[in-house]
Amino acid sequence: MKIAIDIGHVNRSGATGLYGLEEHETASTIAESLRLLLRKAGHIANIFDFPTLGNDEELARVARAINEGYYDLSISLHFDSASSPGPHGAHVCYLSERGKVVAQCVADHLAALLPGRAETVQRRPGLYILKHTVPPAILCECGFGTSPQDAAILRDQPDAIARAIAKGIADYTSRHA
Ligand SMILES: [Zn+2]
Repeated sequence: MKIAIDIGHVNRSGATGLYGLEEHETASTIAESLRLLLRKAGHIANIFDFPTLGNDEELARVARAINEGYYDLSISLHFDSASSPGPHGAHVCYLSERGKVVAQCVADHLAALLPGRAETVQRRPGLYILKHTVPPAILCECGFGTSPQDAAILRDQPDAIARAIAKGIADYTSRHA
């Protein structure tokens, strides 16, 4: 498969978390690791990131690049934040029915590593990147940067997060693609 990896947000415009975590930076680290894993698994995997644009312009550029490149799948990487340290756990957002299948495969692994959300997959019609990309698309919220337990994993084990997502993609391709 030809897989697009979208790093959430532009430089210093996303969420921040404990230990100095910054969403774009953390997502970039996960993205590099995920790209290597997907390529090892035989996929074409490319990262899309326009960190110096404005957020809206960046989203439009990423969506256009994914559509014009005829990708088979789009994965956006983010982390959540909250105003208190309590909320924790990963979830995966989707919009299309095929996106939902991918989201479920990825959430099975990602939420095992970062547990805590009651609903590990969520249909999110309002998210630009899900709405404007042609291939099935998911948006991974890789835990809460504001939760001590999630932030420790985001800081120390970004490669484990990438592995969980790659395992989900492997499940999806073996079962459905
Ligand atoms: Zn985000």
